[in-house]
Amino acid sequence: MDSCTHSASASSSPFDCIIFDLDDTLYSSKTGIGQALKRNIDDFLVEKFGFPESQAPALRAELFKTYGSSLVGLRSLGYDVDADDYHSVVHGRLPYDLIKPDAKLRNLLQTIKQRKIIFTNSDRIHAMKALDRLGIKDCFEQIICFETMNPNLSKSTMPVVLKPSLEAMKIAIDVAGVDPRSTLFLDDNVKNVAAGKAVGLRTVLIGRAIKSKEADYALETITNLVQVIPEIWFSEEDDQRIGHPKNEMDSILSATTVSA
Ligand SMILES: [Mg+2]
Repeated sequence: MDSCTHSASASSSPFDCIIFDLDDTLYSSKTGIGQALKRNIDDFLVEKFGFPESQAPALRAELFKTYGSSLVGLRSLGYDVDADDYHSVVHGRLPYDLIKPDAKLRNLLQTIKQRKIIFTNSDRIHAMKALDRLGIKDCFEQIICFETMNPNLSKSTMPVVLKPSLEAMKIAIDVAGVDPRSTLFLDDNVKNVAAGKAVGLRTVLIGRAIKSKEADYALETITNLVQVIPEIWFSEEDDQRIGHPKNEMDSILSATTVSA
């Protein structure tokens, strides 16, 4: 974090872009959406491929563990899965009203002046719905999602590309046009964080108090961002008024505190 290594720019923060995962990162896994998603995947396995209902949860867990997602796993194992079909069941049936507007998160995001990008394995419709429900859709300049990583998928027999594959990470860095060394990547999945580290990103593990091996930071929730990574908000003004950085942080902290 030596300031001498920073490039001369408008900001002396070491980060010029923040890349956010969406699900379980920008809203809590406790909303019930994650549980509903798992049930929907189980239903998909039963309805489309006739797997016994009793075996679907174990199969889903195994696919996730081995391939990172059920869709990638099914395709890799040679099942003919149409991605739109999959998303229409797995995401299309989600109870989106469980995701509530988050004014505190919105205020926090608005204090971050760097480029802000969403990078999710979910399809675009899901990403838009979730961001809309949270009330933060307009906070991001770009959404990198399933369709970005898998263009023309329906016309191809190519394997699905998603996080945590290195190919997915490289696509995101390329599409976003960022220097990974000055880009902060936030994700709740340990494997995704490891993949981010492998391509040179600065990494933040969300939902844990303790860092994984490849995480530069760990946050229990996104709202701890100011306390754990204050350097996101460092500016040249801070360098000139070196005696007052606490006041700067106080004003950001108060901006992210919402009265009921
Ligand atoms: Mg996630």
